[in-house]
Amino acid sequence: MSPRVRFAPSPTGVLHIGSVRTALFNWLYARHNGGKFLLRIEDTDKVRSTEQNTKLIFEILEWLGIDWDEEPVIQSTRLVRHREVAEAMVKDGRAYRCCCSQEELAAKKEKALSEGKPYKYDGTCRDKNIVDAQSVIRLKSKLDGNTTVIDLVQGAVTVENAQLDDFVLLRSDGTPTYMLSVVVDDHDMGITHIIRGDDHLTNTFKQVQIYEACGWTVPSFAHIPLIYGPDGAKLSKRHGAASAVDYRELGYLPETISNYLLRLGWSHGDDEIISRDEAIEWFDLRNIGRSPSRFDMKKLQNLNSHYIRQRDNASLLSYVLPLLKKQIGEIEEKRILRGMDGLKTRAKTVVELAEAAAVYIAAPTHYDDACSKYVTDVHISLLRDVVSVLDQIGDSVTEEQVAQSIKELAEKRGVKLIEIAQAMRVALCGRLVSPSVFQIIEIIGTNETVSRINSFISCSVYPGSCS
Ligand code: GLU
Repeated sequence: MSPRVRFAPSPTGVLHIGSVRTALFNWLYARHNGGKFLLRIEDTDKVRSTEQNTKLIFEILEWLGIDWDEEPVIQSTRLVRHREVAEAMVKDGRAYRCCCSQEELAAKKEKALSEGKPYKYDGTCRDKNIVDAQSVIRLKSKLDGNTTVIDLVQGAVTVENAQLDDFVLLRSDGTPTYMLSVVVDDHDMGITHIIRGDDHLTNTFKQVQIYEACGWTVPSFAHIPLIYGPDGAKLSKRHGAASAVDYRELGYLPETISNYLLRLGWSHGDDEIISRDEAIEWFDLRNIGRSPSRFDMKKLQNLNSHYIRQRDNASLLSYVLPLLKKQIGEIEEKRILRGMDGLKTRAKTVVELAEAAAVYIAAPTHYDDACSKYVTDVHISLLRDVVSVLDQIGDSVTEEQVAQSIKELAEKRGVKLIEIAQAMRVALCGRLVSPSVFQIIEIIGTNETVSRINSFISCSVYPGSCS
């Protein structure tokens, strides 16, 4: 039977990067095995779930090219079915109604804690046959024996049933708990494999009991270790960025995120750069590691540089345009496109690419601190000579022509070429890292170059006053 897997995010927060990895692993598993990848929005927590978070789930999956099969299931539309299942379990004697008050339960909990014992519902109502519809419904858990889950990542994991209590399936207001709804939905959706974060492993034992109580086939489970920050704490906003949206905004390409997340916790020999097709061909659950994954920003950046270099220039332009601070015309757009080869070899993110592309739009309005080294009297006088040299050649020049002229100037002035090039870079870009200045001049023309250098020279105070 071909597998049916699902991604079941709760829209109670912005989609976490760890959840994106869960989605990716499920998707790859389905695509590798010719199965189905389904999507379920677990929005039963009406207070914390938002439309915006739901919208972002769809948006991020689409951005990453993680497509789903069949109509997404919206969990909140299935509450009647969840209640039906709970009530049927009461009828079959697999669950029971409980009317213990919150106060009674809280007092028992407090007592257990004060005695240093773990709290567990004591089964007061287990054999009372309560019929009050306003009461909660609890599962009649197994009192003895063990439950073993053969997890496809973690191996065999066993708990004694005596450790589990008669947990709640349906609240007194008739709404299902997560434990119940997740099992009913997975069953009804025909899910064969549940691949999710290992923070759900303890829930699995309870869920297996529900499957068994309903007489349903228990799916296979694969619990993936969570993602941790460099300090060993669970990856969160504190580490700089934790949601998929954060990484998109920081200028990471979708293929970078997919490749990085795939390698974070899964391996195929020493391969680091893995294409989508290779990922589909190679993915299996066996090669998911058991130890927690550490998020490595440096690695992510290196991978992004790689994918930026791989991208065609027109698609990079479509990423860059919305990030530019000002509206630009066709001329500037063409210039950026012409300069893209030089820009993309230096950028670690699309945001950096957009910042560097600004050189093709206008003179800099900001100068990096590092520029100050190249604003001595000597450099200014070199720039004056550059203006004289450029004034003698036409507006339209090639990179090679400009390079030749500036080399001759360097020889004449007895300075290294880099001294002149850096001074030009400061005047033209306001930064020391940029594509070749000669290439920039070929693209923006000598007239604009001269005008930028002249206004730079005429600025009396540096840095920051040139605008
Ligand atoms: N909605 C749950 C979550 O976002 C996932 C449930 C599951 O995968 O079983 O953590």
